Amino acid sequence: MAIIEELNVRNCGLETRALHAGTTADPTTGAMLTPIYQTATYRQEAVGKDKGFKYTRSGNPTVSALERRLAALEGGEFGTCYGSGLAATTALFLALLRSGDRIVCSQAVYGGTVRLLRQTLEPFGVRADFVDTADAAAFAHALREPTRLVFIETPANPTLSLTDIALASRLAKSASALLAVDNTLLSPALQRPLELGADIVLHSTTKFIEGNNATIGGALITRDASLHEQFLFTRNTTGTIQSPFVAWLTLQGVKTLPLRMARHCENALQVARFLEAHLRVTRLIYPGLESFPQFDLAQRQQASGGALIAFEVEGAVEAGVRLMNSVRLCALAENLGAAETIITHPVSMTHGAVPAEQRLAAGITDGLVRLSVGLEHPNDIIADLDQALSLSAEGTP
Ligand code: PLP
Repeated sequence: MAIIEELNVRNCGLETRALHAGTTADPTTGAMLTPIYQTATYRQEAVGKDKGFKYTRSGNPTVSALERRLAALEGGEFGTCYGSGLAATTALFLALLRSGDRIVCSQAVYGGTVRLLRQTLEPFGVRADFVDTADAAAFAHALREPTRLVFIETPANPTLSLTDIALASRLAKSASALLAVDNTLLSPALQRPLELGADIVLHSTTKFIEGNNATIGGALITRDASLHEQFLFTRNTTGTIQSPFVAWLTLQGVKTLPLRMARHCENALQVARFLEAHLRVTRLIYPGLESFPQFDLAQRQQASGGALIAFEVEGAVEAGVRLMNSVRLCALAENLGAAETIITHPVSMTHGAVPAEQRLAAGITDGLVRLSVGLEHPNDIIADLDQALSLSAEGTP
């Protein structure tokens, strides 16, 4: 049988959906991989008669294939892909918020999200309140005031604090607000917010979804047709669509997402155990360890501890900086979720735009180190951290 129709893999396992959802063999050549439709426009058969695409700013077949695949992975119906994770966040906010509207946002979130709300949207009259959404009472209290959108990130970047998504969904519904969840840190392989009651899932596909440190991209996924229409409209009016080449690379990367996530988590657990036992580590945060304050929620809500670890070393900021300057195998860089292990200093890198007061309230201390554990052999990652920890002690009395 010539298979050029999309297989229905909706009820198949995640591994199968990661490989097959959203794509078919190319009808003209049989090419297994969806081609990169690198075109600005589409020739129309007659005025008002096209094949579903008019101009690549409003839609592109390669991007659509990725959108169908990501929607299938998250258990959603519709996806829209963007030029970056922040472009997806921008489209989300511009589609749903108007001057005078209020958004309740997790206190600990990616620094770029805070900067977008505080420095770009607040001057347009959007009110952003940053709340400790890990604290159910504070969260419920914040939603007593009229709210249009609740935006949470769980685990939060970089403190890894968790927000209970099912609870957030109940609170948002009773406040007649929409709930959006940034699922970047876990990916649909480990957590599916739509199944827990979220209205919208956001991804920086730059991270685990593409996985190879090769692209910048973002996505919004929903089950709601009218929200999807608003996202499509906003993406077109703001010109934030993802490029066909990035969508194609992401289609290849996402094929191995379930396998990669399993190995990321195995490696992270070993590295976290090593760090927890190390005498120079004074604070260790990893949702897969019993020492994690919200361990029960982590067990209930996510499939495993994830790939991120946050920690502090004896000697505070100076020693933390020495450690980050001393790694060799781990890369000192600003990304996470890549095949390679990445070490980051949130205060001077990813969260530099967050006001110091908000950073400290969220637990982002000056000495906090974020580690995104990659796919190297775990012994090699541990050996590198071990030598860097020894060097971090130099100069410490
Ligand atoms: N959300 C989270 C949790 C992130 O960590 C990031 C980037 O680090 C973003 C969104 C923004 O994504 P991008 O860098 O692709 O714009």
